[in-house]
Amino acid sequence: MTNKRKWDIIIVGGGLAGLTTALHLAKKDVSVCLIEKNEYPNHKVCGEYVSNEVLPYLQSLNIDPFSVGAKNISKFKITDIKGNPINANLPLGGFGISRYAFDQLIYNAVKNKVHIVFDTVEKIIFQENQFSVTTQAKDSFLSEFVVGAFGKRSNIDSFLNRKFMKEKSSWLAVKAHYNYDFPEDTVALHNFEGGYCGLSKTEKNTVNACYLATFKSFKKYGDIDSFQEKVLSQNPFLNNFFSKAEAVSKKPLTISQISFHKKQPVENHIFMVGDSAGLIHPLCGNGMAMAIKSAQIFSELFLESFQRDNFIRATLEKNYTKHWLNEFEGRLKTGRFIQKILMHPGASKVGFATMRMIPSLVPHIIKRTHGSSTL
Ligand SMILES: Cc1cc2nc3c(=O)[nH]c(=O)nc-3n(C[C@H](O)[C@H](O)[C@H](O)COP(=O)(O)OP(=O)(O)OC[C@H]3O[C@@H](n4cnc5c(N)ncnc54)[C@H](O)[C@@H]3O)c2cc1C
Repeated sequence: MTNKRKWDIIIVGGGLAGLTTALHLAKKDVSVCLIEKNEYPNHKVCGEYVSNEVLPYLQSLNIDPFSVGAKNISKFKITDIKGNPINANLPLGGFGISRYAFDQLIYNAVKNKVHIVFDTVEKIIFQENQFSVTTQAKDSFLSEFVVGAFGKRSNIDSFLNRKFMKEKSSWLAVKAHYNYDFPEDTVALHNFEGGYCGLSKTEKNTVNACYLATFKSFKKYGDIDSFQEKVLSQNPFLNNFFSKAEAVSKKPLTISQISFHKKQPVENHIFMVGDSAGLIHPLCGNGMAMAIKSAQIFSELFLESFQRDNFIRATLEKNYTKHWLNEFEGRLKTGRFIQKILMHPGASKVGFATMRMIPSLVPHIIKRTHGSSTL
């Protein structure tokens, strides 16, 4: 069934990138149809540390994470696989909040301003300067513009035959919430053989533990409990955590086939925001801020063009690609480089030794994966 109404814009995916784009545009009287496959709130596999880089922008949209109890985070601890620590202050700082609460907070601000459809998008077809978006329930929605905010890996990536879907993705991730005595002003990154685990507090005072591991290292053990006991617990910090922490989540959440391959910010005339445009290695703790920032970049450029009579699609596509690359390409490269070093036993040893000798390197490296906090 085709919904006769034509929307100014359709957003596919209502995670942080999609919700923020929807909120920004709806506040400027753009008619938005947002299609999301899951109901809110829901838990997501994520480190749940958000860089303050996007705080002024969120505040400009009247989103205040601290109103739901987000924790102010200003300190960073990183340990090597043996648990040798390095402590640093975070240059910009950030906040700890569960995705359950964060996505819900933005959803609450959006829900009365935007037409939201809970369904899975199956097809996005561009023909004669117009998109037709079809869902599993066989509803069709029309617009001249579509934003792809469907996250790191979606059925739509297969539908669009995107290049990264053909490349090997050998990472999996596990996340759960725990009760554990942990400083609320700190985000920790503990390394283990074949991966790393982030710890930080959420708005509920629980600790979110989220780790990323190569499929190769995980498959030797086959299940989460054995992997945590035999591999993660080689790091004394993680040993202490997993032996003392009391699980709050019924069962850890898991995802696999996480891809860090390059993507295009515009494909098939769809403007990609958030992870749909590119995913930074989670050790940088900056994917959520990038998702929100890309929503801001797109929304500002879109509004500038949309309000003009002589609008040219190709110019907006070119401009968005240019701005996206300027803002994020360098961070993604640095993220890939740090990840390579951490996963290589020899290089990681040298890296940790250097950081221990020159502690001021740590904030410097963090800065290279983050943007500025100006609006
Ligand atoms: C292990 C791990 C740890 C991380 N830790 C951190 C961290 O500590 N800090 C940080 O800043 N970032 C972190 N990140 C990155 C962060 O999670 C992402 O960058 C962020 O979630 C991107 O938001 P998004 O809106 O692009 O995607 P998502 O939040 O994934 O939203 C995409 C939405 O699209 C919907 N969708 C997908 N397909 C369809 C469809 N066909 N139809 C309708 N809806 C659809 C999904 O249901 C989902 O709600 C981490 C990532 C991983 C993998």
